[in-house]
Amino acid sequence: MTSANEPTSRLKCGGCGKVLSVPISLAGRQVKCPKCAHAFRVPDAKPTATPADLAPPTAPSPNRGAGRSTASDPGNVSLSREKLEVLYPNFFTSSGLLMRLWKSLAGSAPFSPSAINKHLQFGDSRAAVVVSVSPLLVAAYSDERDCVVMLKFSEELVATYRLKPGSRLITVNTYMQGPNRPVADLIEGPLSRGNWHNVIPMIADFLSDDMDTIESRKQAIKDEEWQRTAMLGAEYVQTKPGKARDGRPLDSWKPCVTSLF
Ligand SMILES: [Zn+2]
Repeated sequence: MTSANEPTSRLKCGGCGKVLSVPISLAGRQVKCPKCAHAFRVPDAKPTATPADLAPPTAPSPNRGAGRSTASDPGNVSLSREKLEVLYPNFFTSSGLLMRLWKSLAGSAPFSPSAINKHLQFGDSRAAVVVSVSPLLVAAYSDERDCVVMLKFSEELVATYRLKPGSRLITVNTYMQGPNRPVADLIEGPLSRGNWHNVIPMIADFLSDDMDTIESRKQAIKDEEWQRTAMLGAEYVQTKPGKARDGRPLDSWKPCVTSLF
């Protein structure tokens, strides 16, 4: 893996005490401990590292407790360099480096392989369902806002992954803090917890070779969540025809404002 030099901060999990090495590119985001699934917000990066950075986050997130969606699971999968290159053939070349720098200036794109890898490990894994194959659209579910993020990918992936409408995938989500309402391209559902301004989804199947972990997560997700994801996906293409985000990991954070297809 390249970019092993990405700055990280060491955080102690408030749930299990494990010391985690989290890239500062995840600062301000909601992540999950890969060991115990405790959810916490990565503190904002400080200009210099101090011993205080080693302290656990001060406000432990409330126990998500009983009821719906108790299974909040960190993705716990690692990035495949080969799969990343399929999505971005120039990712590791100098032109790809320029692209990554450019995109990182545009916002909070996790532009290094190491940041993408950490996202896949620490983010929350949820249902994602193929809505159509031409164009290739994937609805990625977020329980925080009870919404889907509509993602568009190259149709070349359809054959590679033998996709058809209804195929099940796994999204790994992290969250960005902002104004209370969700960003404009998300349609908030009635089960929203009202937290987090924006969702950054990454489709694990397209980015990781840890297929056993991905498969076992698919088995663990309840039918209810799969059905809700498929239903919200179908509603989304009716309500916002032509609207989708570029589903690739440097772009999937970016709310879509104009029609993509
Ligand atoms: Zn933990």
